[in-house]
Order: sequence, then C-alpha cells, then structure tokens
Amino acid sequence: MRFSQLFVNTLKEAPKDALLKSHQYLVRGGFIQQVGSGIYNFLPLGKKLLDKVRFIIKEEMDITNAQEILMGFVTPADLWRESGRYEKYGRELLRLVDRKENEFVLGPTHEEVVTFIAKNGVKSYKQLPVHLYQIHTKFRDEVRPRFGLMRGREFIMKDGYSFHSSFEDLDREFDVMEQTYKKILERIGVDFKIVEADSGAIGGSGSKEFMVLAPCGEDTIVVCKNCEYGANIEISSRALRLSPRPSELKYDENPPKAEFGRFYTPNVKSIESLSEFFKVDRFYLLKAVVKKALRADGSFELVYGFVRGDDEIEETKLLNTINRVDSSFISLEDAESSEIAQAGKNGVLEVGFIGPYGLGYITQSSHIYFDESLREAKGLICGANEKDYHFVGVDLDTFENLNFADLAQTQEGDLCPKCNGELYYTKGIEVGHIFKLGTKYSHAMNAQFLDKDGKAQDLIMGCYGFGVSRILPAILEQKSDELGCVWGKEVKVFDLAIIISNVKDIAQSEFATKIYEECKARGIDVLLDDRDERFGVKMKDFELLGFSFALIVGKGLNEGRLELIKREGLKKFELQCDENILENLLGILGRNS
Ligand code: ATP
Ligand code: MG
Repeated sequence: MRFSQLFVNTLKEAPKDALLKSHQYLVRGGFIQQVGSGIYNFLPLGKKLLDKVRFIIKEEMDITNAQEILMGFVTPADLWRESGRYEKYGRELLRLVDRKENEFVLGPTHEEVVTFIAKNGVKSYKQLPVHLYQIHTKFRDEVRPRFGLMRGREFIMKDGYSFHSSFEDLDREFDVMEQTYKKILERIGVDFKIVEADSGAIGGSGSKEFMVLAPCGEDTIVVCKNCEYGANIEISSRALRLSPRPSELKYDENPPKAEFGRFYTPNVKSIESLSEFFKVDRFYLLKAVVKKALRADGSFELVYGFVRGDDEIEETKLLNTINRVDSSFISLEDAESSEIAQAGKNGVLEVGFIGPYGLGYITQSSHIYFDESLREAKGLICGANEKDYHFVGVDLDTFENLNFADLAQTQEGDLCPKCNGELYYTKGIEVGHIFKLGTKYSHAMNAQFLDKDGKAQDLIMGCYGFGVSRILPAILEQKSDELGCVWGKEVKVFDLAIIISNVKDIAQSEFATKIYEECKARGIDVLLDDRDERFGVKMKDFELLGFSFALIVGKGLNEGRLELIKREGLKKFELQCDENILENLLGILGRNS
C-alpha cells in the first residue's frame, strides 16, 4: 500500500469528550469515526485491526472444534419472553416494533437465539458436545456510553455457546476456553490477568474474566502478592479476618472486655463517632447497611447486611446472597431513612442505631445477613434498634439461626483465601468473560436432548464472550505512549513503513520503491510513505498511527546508511545499503517483533 492512496485523515486535535488516550488516538489516527452516541464507523485502518483480531480468534476457536455461525442481530422479542429476560434485562435492551406491530430487540447478547438453534438442531446426546460461536455486532443501550470503543452502544463481540450432556463435559470445555482465550491474548500481545468473576446467584467457580491490565481500567481486581489468585473485587473473597488491620489500628487490637449492657449514645450515629465514643477499634463495631432490593416490576424489599465497622458491604455479593433465596431481584439501591423507619414497627428503626436484636421481628424481613468475618465474633458493639442507644459486650455466637454470607468488600492488605498472602488492588479492562450457564436458558426455553436412556434432559450450556472492538482501546491503554499508538504482537496496522524523506529526490524515491516491492514480495505488510509532505509530518504520522517499524530513506542514503526505528520504545537500528540489506532488514523485523 502507498500512503498517498490510503484513506486516512489524521487529526491534530482530539474530540473534547475523549478522556482516554486510546479514544484520542483512535479518532486522531482516523481508525474510527463517531456517528452517534456510542456508535462508530470503522475506517480502513480500524477495520484492518478488527480483522486481525477476528483472524486470531477464528484460528484459535476453530482448533477447538468450535464452529462459526452468524445469528440475526434483530431478534424476535418472543424468544426473550421465553427466557424471561424481556422484562429483566432492563433498559440496555433496545426494543423495536415493525410495520406489522411485531416486537423485536437488537441483540445485546445471543443466549436466546443460540438456544433456539440448539433446541431445533440437537436431539440426542450423540450430537453433543457442540460449540457454536459468532463474531458480530451487538447493541446495548448503555446508560453512559464512553471512552470510544471501550464502552460503545453498538460494538463487536465474539460470543460462543457450548452445549453438553453433562456438567463434567461443560467443565472440560470451560477449561479449554480458558486456555484458548489465554492463547488469543498472548498472540494479541497484551499483559492480562484471569480473574474469578461474578456468576450471579449461581455462585461457585463458574465464571472468569480476562482483564487487560491498565491504570484506566473500570474494574478493580484483587490480586495476591504470593500466588496466582485474582478476582474481580465484586466477588473476591479473603481469609477469615481475626483482628483489626494493623495499618488502620486506632485503639486496642484485642476485643473490648465489657459485660453485656445498653448504653445511652446520644447522636452517635457513624462508625467513626461510635469508635471514638467507646474508644474501641472499628473492627469490634457492627455496621448495619440497609439497601432497597428492586424487582423488574419496580417493587422492592429492604434488605439488611451486617459487616465489621472497618469493612464495607460489596453490593454484588449482597445481591447474589438475596437472589440465592429469591432470584427476582435485579439491583440494589440506597434506602432512604424514611423508608427504613417505615420498615420497622412503630418507626423504631433509625439509621445509626440498627442492630441484630429482634431485627427479624421488627422488620419481618427474611433478608438479614451477617458477613462471614462475624462468625463467632465476641465483644461487639451494635445498635439497639432504639434511637440513641447501643449495646456493648455482644457475642454473636449466642444468637440462633443467623444467616452468614460473604458480604464484605476485600480491602488491600486483607489475606488471600488460597494462601494467606497479602492482597492488593490493580485495575483491569474486561476483554473477555467465560461463564458456566448450566441449564438456565435451556430449561426456560425447553431445549432438551435425549440421554443414553432415552430420557429428556435440559441441555447444559456454557457461554464465552470476547470484546473484539474493546480489545483495540485496551491494547492502546496498555501499550501506547505520549506520541501515539503502539500496537500488539499480531494486531497491528503495518509491519513496516518505508518513509521517503524527500520524494523529489529521485535516488531516495527509487531506492525506497525497490525495497518496498521486495518487502511486498517477501510477504511483509509494508506501507510506502510516498507523500509529498515534510519529513516531520510523515514521522508524526508514523508515531501516531503506530506502524511497527519505519525505515527512513533520507540523506544517509548517499553514504550508504539507512535508519530503522521500532515504534515500541523508539529503538533505532542502523542498516548498510549493501547487497544484504533486505535480509538484514527482515532479520531485525523478525527478531524484534
Ligand atoms: P461490562 O461490565 O464492561 O459492561 P459485561 O459484563 O456487560 O461488560 P459481557 O456481557 O460479559 O460484558 O460481554 C462480553 C464482552 O463484551 C465483555 O467482556 C467486553 O469485552 C465486551 N463488551 C461488553 N459491553 C461492551 C460495550 N458496551 N462496548 C464494548 N465492548 C463491550
Ligand atoms: Mg455491561
């Protein structure tokens, strides 16, 4: 390709709303162009990158015997009604009506459609397992589309779905996909971490996310300093906490010794003021958190979670906990103090004084949970469910039938649940998510197969998503520098740009063109920058667009020298213009890419 023929318009200025460097470079480099909120055109260089990602994914997926399909982007609403998600999915689902009043949705994901395919195509266990995937457009009406391709409304995803006759076989495929995604990301050329992720109410180890490590990542991940453990903060667990965090310790680290008693604590509502009032470390205070759990139909219930005073509730964990009992809740919201007061008989519940004594009776709620770290906790101070009063000397092991669950958010410095090593936070961009679905969709949509004994069984499913368009900004967030794009190992725009310093110099032009033709013949993806532009402009474009290497054909040609620059790190190599130049050039490219 000659640059003079390339359809690309580079810009000096980034759009005002482009906060991330990846967004700025993708737009400034003319890779993409915004046409609406969260909707982008892929221009030739952007499309070329997408195709590289697609190629790697297809190669790796096909090795595993997964088969590529293409499902309709516009999906009949009835399929979504069958699965129960038409109501539950919320406002990210874009709903449409055609001229005959038929309802449709723009597919944000394709479990329903693929289950429809399997329902009609799989009859017997002999046809299993089968794994179908596609690389296609998705639409999610995100509340806040932002950061360019990172969170678009229309975006490209690879989504795969596997069907099995046993849970063991699903586990096997899940492991194969973990390895496959690993290979894909290694070929793309980014640093990543595989972390345990939210599986909704199902729980267990049924979900993993693939995080490209970058400071701008929207996800916080909890990682162990000592072992492989990594988890999304939403669900990350920790070893049982037995004492206050040394770094935060304010008072005695041992449990306060006090007989059980009721104390007048006027206006002492916050954990901080309570800790000061009694001169007791926050670890020994019982923090009550009240949330509104909302259903799809708009109704709600108040739910109560208790954690230690120096911990915070992790909402995802609380939501999963209540959904394990009654799976109708879709989200949590903060409860107003008036709503909390109403929930208690005679309005006795007041924020700041809520505690476990008689709470079930007062609220009639079946959703009262205690964090795991409170099991057998002694010497606690808690609200007395009476304004301006607290109890001291509370031993939770004297209560009967408390519901314990992992509710607290893991903090930096907490200990690893696997090895007791120290945990710390880092940031990641979620580019992939693999998930054991089980029979959730097949059951709802009546997709069954006949087992060995001729008995009808629900198909057992897994699903495997990869953000094909999101991986482009993810690469840039990790690898690009202050000058522009740096692309990945196999995802890149050109292996080599040959820059003619001055196109009016016939010797330079002829030499560059000769090398260009030779490189092309050797299968190098090469660009000849033959534009009648200043040298500085061409170098700036090389840096902004991130071609892997630039060969500068300039004044040095007279002395038989050429300069080769590697974009990543801007390392320079000198080449002699002798009969070996092509071999030497290809050698450096091969060894350094
Ligand atoms: P997020 O938490 O970032 O919204 P998600 O959990 O909704 O992601 P999945 O439903 O698991 O994502 O979709 C699979 C993959 O699709 C994600 O891992 C991500 O790479 C990509 N993806 C999801 N939403 C978007 C979006 N709005 N724009 C671009 N890519 C997306
Ligand atoms: Mg999402």
